Amino acid sequence: MKFALVDGIRQEATTGIRGTCSGCGSPTLAKCGLKRLHHWAHVSTAVCDRWWETETEWHRAWKNLFPTEWQEVRHVSIEGEVHIADVKTPSGTVIEFQYSAIPPQERGSREAFYDLMVWIVDGTRLPVVVP
Ligand SMILES: [Zn+2]
Repeated sequence: MKFALVDGIRQEATTGIRGTCSGCGSPTLAKCGLKRLHHWAHVSTAVCDRWWETETEWHRAWKNLFPTEWQEVRHVSIEGEVHIADVKTPSGTVIEFQYSAIPPQERGSREAFYDLMVWIVDGTRLPVVVP
């Protein structure tokens, strides 16, 4: 995750700080190594959003095109299912950035969960098909 709550305020990960996951309220640790993007990880192995994937630079760059308060917005269904939208606009449109392929049924469940949503897909990774 790009954001966690530190003393109740959304913050990006910086070395040596701890926070709280805005999705599930669990403790998080700032991970600020050299290889991966700076991010927050749950202290325990608990996964609060099974749709969450390790963020790539492609993914983070797209998210960064939007205001920070639109990024990583917690969304709860009537049934209590929790997911964190990559971007949610003030008018309620969810934008999900997808770098790698996902199975059709998972795609369908995301579309059903977020009523109003669009996908931004990295099409440069698809093989070129010549008819
Ligand atoms: Zn969490």
